[in-house]
Amino acid sequence: MVFDHTDFDQHEQVVFCANPMAGLAAIIAVHDTHRGPALGGCRHWHYTDDAAALTDALRLSRGMSYKAALADLPLGGGKSVILANPAAERARMFEAFGEAVERLGGRYITAEDVGTTTTDMSAIRRATRHVSGVAASEGGRGDPSPATALGVLRGMLAALEARFDSDTLQGRRVAVQGLGSVGFALCHLLHERGARLIVADIAAERVERAVREFGAVAVSVDVIHAVEADVFAPCALGAVLDAVRVPQLACAVVAGAANNQLAHDGIDEALRARGVLYAPDYLINAGGLIKVAGEYLGFPVEEADRRVLAIRERTTEVLLTALREGVPTAQVADRLARARIGRA
Ligand code: NAD
Repeated sequence: MVFDHTDFDQHEQVVFCANPMAGLAAIIAVHDTHRGPALGGCRHWHYTDDAAALTDALRLSRGMSYKAALADLPLGGGKSVILANPAAERARMFEAFGEAVERLGGRYITAEDVGTTTTDMSAIRRATRHVSGVAASEGGRGDPSPATALGVLRGMLAALEARFDSDTLQGRRVAVQGLGSVGFALCHLLHERGARLIVADIAAERVERAVREFGAVAVSVDVIHAVEADVFAPCALGAVLDAVRVPQLACAVVAGAANNQLAHDGIDEALRARGVLYAPDYLINAGGLIKVAGEYLGFPVEEADRRVLAIRERTTEVLLTALREGVPTAQVADRLARARIGRA
């Protein structure tokens, strides 16, 4: 059921899309469009079942509303998930997905997310113009991941400053979980600034590359969250901070790219009680959204770049407010976002 689903947050519209000829089964969740059309990426993933896909779409789309509001973009929040189908012809499936997006008439705008690329966006664009993150060769501004990594770095600097009264990364130990598009780009930025990297990924070749290029120390995916570090940066999938892992953390700051890092209610308070400063995920991982928003809405590249850098100041504001009030940082971010959306 959708209406009594624990992650249903009065979403405006949840659309189930099927095109058997193209092998498409997808869910588009439009959470809120009060601030503007709902922009949010399309995830292509092997879900255990339909229920897991629905949960992901509901949670991710709500996060996008909050992310757009905190980034002060004239956009609402939405997200889509495509249930991976090994039998489908990929370009045809994404084009069929574009047809489903087109039927929403611009209320939902799609872009990349986990498991999708600029090539997939090109296929979608054959059916709709409501797509962003299109390759530069086709008139777009390309993959948003580097902008996400830069925004995460800016958020991390704000958290370091708030925690240690110094934002230097020189010699700081940063544990990066997930070396995909964002995680690897983040490692690059951290390495350039003198950080000591500890890394884990289920893909061995990515780990080997980080060891080779950045002198990173590799650990198993089971322990990356628990290694002694100044910062733990979750850059894989969501729900990594739960009742089991939070007590195992050995870091001062959590600042990473993954969406929905908090597995359930109360985890933000558990982090606060342990003295771990958590930089809210949707606050610091907005760089990619800002970039695709700039492409879709047509504001200048320099303006988008400026907004990505400003993630640092926004993060400082949220963290300092939380520390002053003695409440979890995620609570302050949620409060601010809801007020801006008008869902206070
Ligand atoms: P990606 O698919 O390129 O990378 C994810 C990486 O995590 C892969 O290398 C994968 O092998 C690894 N991984 C998966 N399970 C793992 C595990 N259990 N332990 C360690 N590593 C594991 O995805 P991405 O685009 O880099 O996005 C990473 C996260 O950031 C996602 O949660 C995504 O929603 C979020 N995010 C991405 C963007 C963006 O611009 N790409 C923007 C905002 C948020």
